[in-house]
Amino acid sequence: MTGASLRIGRVRALLEDNQLDALLLAGGPNVRWLTGFTGSSGAVLVGPESASFITDFRYVEQAGEEISSEFETLISDGPLRKSIAEKVSSSPVHMLGFDSEDLTVDSRDQLDDVLPEGVELIALKGVSSVLRSVKNAAEISAIQTAAAVADQVLMAVLETGLIGRTEVEVANDLERRARDLGAEAMSFPSIVAAGSHGALPHAQPRQEVISSGQLVVIDWGVVVSGYCSDCTRTVAAGPVSDRAKEIYEVVQSAQQAGVRALRPGPTGREIDAVSRGLIEEAGFGENFGHGLGHGVGLEIHESPTLGKTGDAALEEGMVVTVEPGIYLAGELGVRIEDLLVVTADGADAMTHLPLALIEVG
Ligand code: ZN
Ligand code: ZN
Repeated sequence: MTGASLRIGRVRALLEDNQLDALLLAGGPNVRWLTGFTGSSGAVLVGPESASFITDFRYVEQAGEEISSEFETLISDGPLRKSIAEKVSSSPVHMLGFDSEDLTVDSRDQLDDVLPEGVELIALKGVSSVLRSVKNAAEISAIQTAAAVADQVLMAVLETGLIGRTEVEVANDLERRARDLGAEAMSFPSIVAAGSHGALPHAQPRQEVISSGQLVVIDWGVVVSGYCSDCTRTVAAGPVSDRAKEIYEVVQSAQQAGVRALRPGPTGREIDAVSRGLIEEAGFGENFGHGLGHGVGLEIHESPTLGKTGDAALEEGMVVTVEPGIYLAGELGVRIEDLLVVTADGADAMTHLPLALIEVG
């Protein structure tokens, strides 16, 4: 079976589980995952017997090149919803599922207006991210390439040193080198946060010079073949205090314990609890205010969730981050994040950077 027919099979299993007659996927990453289409205007409608890709006239040629043969391609001469409605009315669809993270409330209502009488739109929140959570070999290889580029980029930036450069300069340097090494884009705006600024988990780089004695949190990722990487290292700019080192070691041991716990079977909540327990034991439970990790793929945050809301059990082929942190307001932040792929009996690292505290000038 081809990748596309396996994926269509997963969607059909979901139709059965949810007693749906068809599922509509409209978001760019979902359409790309299912069909291979990289354009910006596309939707997919999968029923028990049919699989249709719908785009508009601007993408006729691109669709011809990219869409796998399992799909019939429908070219809409107006808004895509017109063709979706036509297709729905030509087949026995009563319950039509969609991902509520895929359609805005407005576009859901506009679609509802043109659908035939008797068709009910059923919202399934985040269902496509769950469908996409187990990666195939090609996806894992793309993410591995992205992670390898990201590793190289950081090492090159650190060789240039941190002390005396601003956070913005370091972030721009990361991004320039990533593009030079073939990245299509960054997975998200890079975080470079020195000293007390590192206590903000989503800090924006500032025009502030990094000085000796500061810990610097660097969180960045690159996109290769549409797939994201995600990694964080906390680096010492010159010698740092013993307290900073102690906190680093707590995060490092929590990170490694989380990584060792990864395997098919446990839920994301259970993995989170392993790392969180160690941080709590060290007295910093209050200072770890986010989840342990998340899935990564065509989007930077995907299923599964490794955190208190992570009900889904891990499966072989899921690509996840493990990223505990300790944030002391007004003082410092430490986060260590690796990207890993869950294997049959554990997990393989995709990040190959040192875990111990790196000191640079
Ligand atoms: Zn990250
Ligand atoms: Zn992350």
